[in-house]
Amino acid sequence: MKLNLTGHKCPTCNTAISLKLFRNREEVIRCKQCNSLLIETPKSRLISSIVLVLGIFAAIGVPLLIDYFFIGVLLLLVSFSIAQALIKLTVAKPDLKIRDKITNRVSYIRTSDWEEIVKNAKNGKINYEIIEHLEH
Ligand SMILES: [Zn+2]
Repeated sequence: MKLNLTGHKCPTCNTAISLKLFRNREEVIRCKQCNSLLIETPKSRLISSIVLVLGIFAAIGVPLLIDYFFIGVLLLLVSFSIAQALIKLTVAKPDLKIRDKITNRVSYIRTSDWEEIVKNAKNGKINYEIIEHLEH
């Protein structure tokens, strides 16, 4: 029997989505299957982060108190698993429709993604253009 605590699924098409524990949690994830933009719900992000922080503190603190290192590792693993299991994904509505000027590929992104693209653009050169502002 396999205990799958870290399995997350796309709310739209049910495809399994793998999530890294230490990533930018506000980052939009794209489902490879249906192209849905997914994001953690703010509530699950908060609770999951709290569990993680508490787990790390407990993993450091408890072994100091009882002088048993292994319990710290165990606490860390348990809190990581719980933090992962608490993550809830929801579909993020895209704000912008953009086009890759080189490949002509169209994709849907959020305003925060666009700000990221602009910020990362070298010498102000952006290979994408906004073709539509989407209304919610
Ligand atoms: Zn999907």
